[in-house]
Amino acid sequence: MIRVSADFAKEVKKRLGGETITNCYQCGTCTSSCPVARVTNRFNPRKLIVQSLRGKRDDVLTGEMIWLCCSCFNCQERCPQRVEIADLIYALRNIAISEGNVPNIYSEFVSALYSEGKLVKVAGFTEKQRENFGLPPLKKPDVEAIRAILAETSFGEVLKVLEGKE
Ligand code: SF4
Ligand code: SF4
Repeated sequence: MIRVSADFAKEVKKRLGGETITNCYQCGTCTSSCPVARVTNRFNPRKLIVQSLRGKRDDVLTGEMIWLCCSCFNCQERCPQRVEIADLIYALRNIAISEGNVPNIYSEFVSALYSEGKLVKVAGFTEKQRENFGLPPLKKPDVEAIRAILAETSFGEVLKVLEGKE
């Protein structure tokens, strides 16, 4: 059974970044400008918008499409209706995150940033290679300072949502 949420477009419009969703008239310029859509048919910004406008809330928020945008803003610069597409995708991601719908790779990045101050651990091999090339060792990140910045952006709340997922 396909579930439809009639108010989903209104919900998105109220979010920061989602305000312009109802300007879309489905011309497809965004999709034809999109480097991700060029390499995979798993992503199509025009389709993502029409699904949202039609209230396919569950499909949009639990699907992979919102996570495939690489935020290049090509679409946003070219949209004749001034739909802020990349920002709109951030708004959809924020709704998905608040409901605990996020791919594991992102939750791993979030946890690593909070605990180590880095998204990806630098391997011992890389450190050794730096030494071989005469490069100085990498500086250790100031984890406490990073946490203080994250706290100011409500990142801790996001972390709690993601940890509740496990
Ligand atoms: S370019 Fe703008 S108006 Fe055209 S489909 Fe994309 S978002 Fe909609
Ligand atoms: S911002 Fe996202 S949707 Fe827009 S063109 Fe770039 S990858 Fe595609």
